[in-house]
Amino acid sequence: MYTEILLIGAGVTGCALARVLSRYDVQVTVIDRGTDVAEGASKANSGIVHAGFDAHPGTMKAKLNVEGANMYPALCKELGVPYGQPGALVIGFDEDDRKTLENLVQQGIENGVPGVRLIEREEILAMEPNTNPAVLCALYAPTSGLTSPYEMTFALADHAALNGVTFRMNEDVTNVWQDETGLWHVQATSGEYTCKVVINCAGVGSAFIHNMMSDDKREIINRRGQYYLMDRVTPLPFTMTMFQCPTKMGKGVLVSPTVHGNVLLGPSAEDIPDAMDVSTTADGLAFVLEKSKLTWPAASPRGTITNFSGIRAHEAKGDFIIGAVSGRTNAYETVGIESPGLSSAPAIAEMLGKQIAQEQGLAKKADYQPAKPLPKPFHAMNNEERAAAVAADPLYGKLVCRCEVVTEAEIRAAIRRPVGAHTIDGVKRRTRAGMGRCQGGFCSPRVAEIIAEELGIPMTEVTKCGGESRLLTGTIQEAMKEGCCHE
Ligand SMILES: Cc1cc2nc3c(=O)[nH]c(=O)nc-3n(C[C@H](O)[C@H](O)[C@H](O)COP(=O)(O)OP(=O)(O)OC[C@H]3O[C@@H](n4cnc5c(N)ncnc54)[C@H](O)[C@@H]3O)c2cc1C
Repeated sequence: MYTEILLIGAGVTGCALARVLSRYDVQVTVIDRGTDVAEGASKANSGIVHAGFDAHPGTMKAKLNVEGANMYPALCKELGVPYGQPGALVIGFDEDDRKTLENLVQQGIENGVPGVRLIEREEILAMEPNTNPAVLCALYAPTSGLTSPYEMTFALADHAALNGVTFRMNEDVTNVWQDETGLWHVQATSGEYTCKVVINCAGVGSAFIHNMMSDDKREIINRRGQYYLMDRVTPLPFTMTMFQCPTKMGKGVLVSPTVHGNVLLGPSAEDIPDAMDVSTTADGLAFVLEKSKLTWPAASPRGTITNFSGIRAHEAKGDFIIGAVSGRTNAYETVGIESPGLSSAPAIAEMLGKQIAQEQGLAKKADYQPAKPLPKPFHAMNNEERAAAVAADPLYGKLVCRCEVVTEAEIRAAIRRPVGAHTIDGVKRRTRAGMGRCQGGFCSPRVAEIIAEELGIPMTEVTKCGGESRLLTGTIQEAMKEGCCHE
């Protein structure tokens, strides 16, 4: 298959870049080995839009974090993605921590983070009374925000698709090479793609792709982070995101509300050999709980509805690598996009998209479509709005997920989006059906039924998350024929 631009990796970076490129008159195809967009780090992270004090001044991370964080409020409004700006504290317990925090405040000022300052114990406890009373001082960053990382990625992908970008999933890239005419060839699961321009946004797979394209080799360290996610019934102990002093492994364990009002504890930081190993471990979770207690002495696993992990793509040199692939023509990359990659994605996309458009001589599209944000979710509507929604579409009157108050109308709409859901997890992340206390125990069969109806496939073909993850192994009639069960 030929496409002018082939972009590998449908995470938040790839989808943000695809959306920027969709402003131009050029054919763009995005491929990913996942069964849906946002199957890598972009689905399993803390969801913090970092204010931008963590990265050393002068680095790509510092510049793009602050630029990206500034873009978030307007971008979330434009795309209809949840966003909040509760602020953050990084707390310290002794004089060594105070020195670290003073340096972070200075970094924040140099990076251009608004309002960042050091505060003392009394002010901390007045702001956040559930903080460990042993706290000494803290960095206060009023512009630290929260978002839903996968909802952002879906919205970016939808807007790109609305403007002509094609998304092809289940495409594992195993080889990339440039021929003598300068065309790029990409071997993926369904066959070979040929393109003029190739872009590598493959997260933990970005060094593997890079090393097939360039003699200047790179290494990605897979750094896993594990989490506890609490029920929304658990009272929020803090209004802000509560960090501890960073270590050489990263920003440390946080206790934070999510943008949807759950309590989140984590992440751990462990280097692992397998980039696909998103399992959680007893040791990793025990570490998270123990560290959380330093911030919130009452932290307990009660109220946990799920544990999960995500893998950071840590590049050995520590900064984002963004731009043209050295020594090659018509090849671009984003490598080592670990935290603050979610916060930086909009700025990464603007910067790299502009470079690609200039170097490739791309012209702006005449018929570029603005985003079509999703309607307000049913759970967030007041009674008058709910009555109007049901009057306009009676399927708003059919509640499918009781925990998160998600209706059949919203589930069908999620499947019909430009890059629509086709798995139970895809529906869950787009609508929150299955995100609540029962974790889909009640609504999954009905969600599966709706997916089957919408996609015109048998229920036995509906999967949780692609591949062989079917919910049903067959029909009762088939089992009876095979003598496996009796009337
Ligand atoms: C535990 C944790 C916590 C974090 N917390 C935050 C936070 O609070 N705030 C913040 O700003 N950032 C945070 N980050 C960082 C942020 O999640 C990432 O920087 C961001 O999601 C990276 O997006 P991406 O699109 O570059 O990578 P990904 O989302 O990983 O996307 C890369 C895609 O490439 C695909 N791919 C890889 N190899 C191949 C191949 N061979 N063939 C085809 N496709 C391939 C993958 O399937 C994947 O979908 C966190 C990360 C982790 C892991």
